[in-house]
Amino acid sequence: MSLFAKPPVHNESEAVLAVKDVSVRYNGVVALEDVSFELDPGERVAVVGPNGAGKSTLFKVVAGLLHVTHGTVTVRGHAPGGHVCIAYVPQRNQVDWTFPVNVTDVVMMGRIRQIGFLRWPSQHDRRIVRQSLELVNMAHLADRQIGELSGGQQQRVFIARALAQEAELMLMDEPFTGLDLTSQQDILEIMNVLQQRGVTVLVSTHDLSLAAGAFDRLMLLNRRLIGFGKAAEVLTPERLAETYGGRLQLLPTSQGAFVFDNACCGDHHDHG
Ligand code: ADP
Ligand code: MG
Repeated sequence: MSLFAKPPVHNESEAVLAVKDVSVRYNGVVALEDVSFELDPGERVAVVGPNGAGKSTLFKVVAGLLHVTHGTVTVRGHAPGGHVCIAYVPQRNQVDWTFPVNVTDVVMMGRIRQIGFLRWPSQHDRRIVRQSLELVNMAHLADRQIGELSGGQQQRVFIARALAQEAELMLMDEPFTGLDLTSQQDILEIMNVLQQRGVTVLVSTHDLSLAAGAFDRLMLLNRRLIGFGKAAEVLTPERLAETYGGRLQLLPTSQGAFVFDNACCGDHHDHG
């Protein structure tokens, strides 16, 4: 028996996330230009693009943390800010890991809306937090300070928070960056749990082969949306060149082209 509430029933024709003609400018710097797409319930989508492509900007806009300069973002037909069901995991370097909270606290934060303002968590809330931590195999570290965890463990805690929040849409900004292969695999497996619950997952990554192998659809972004669809349709040499410019290396193989993004780990910002 699961403690979690049944997913709410929605109009099937209503996209979980609808982004329409969205442009974002920071003091004149164009971070996103005329981006439109929709996400279906329960699908897993990878956003791929070089540094400075606007991936984090896109996630912040969807999470309601940043206003669009032009266009609209709706989550189940509502503006993002007023929506309870979005879980957002920022890029690692945008989190203050010295903030003194333990694992249980972080996951309990996912329950804040359900608990209500100035009220204490109920036993039900505590049980949901516990069960969420068990699902990501982190219950044994429930009292550990968040800053003392490995990168992979931190990502698992954030997934537990999304589970506790009963989020419908989960945004994870570069969750795989800096993780070893085993930890990456762990995160992908836990994403299966999210998918079983019908949670829609949007992940940004530099890893094209991971994006192609482990996600339902793939989005190529470089300020503009260059492609969005199944990996085989999207990963054409032309689109990749448009996304990555000259930084991309293609290695033709019997399986098609194998692609390296050789800009992924440095600070090769070509603008900004
Ligand atoms: P990505 O996550 O794909 O690396 P970002 O969304 O972080 O891309 O950045 C997109 C562009 O917007 C870059 O040119 C970046 O320098 C610029 N940018 C991002 N955040 C800000 C900000 N707070 N102020 C000004 N420019 C910004
Ligand atoms: Mg980013």
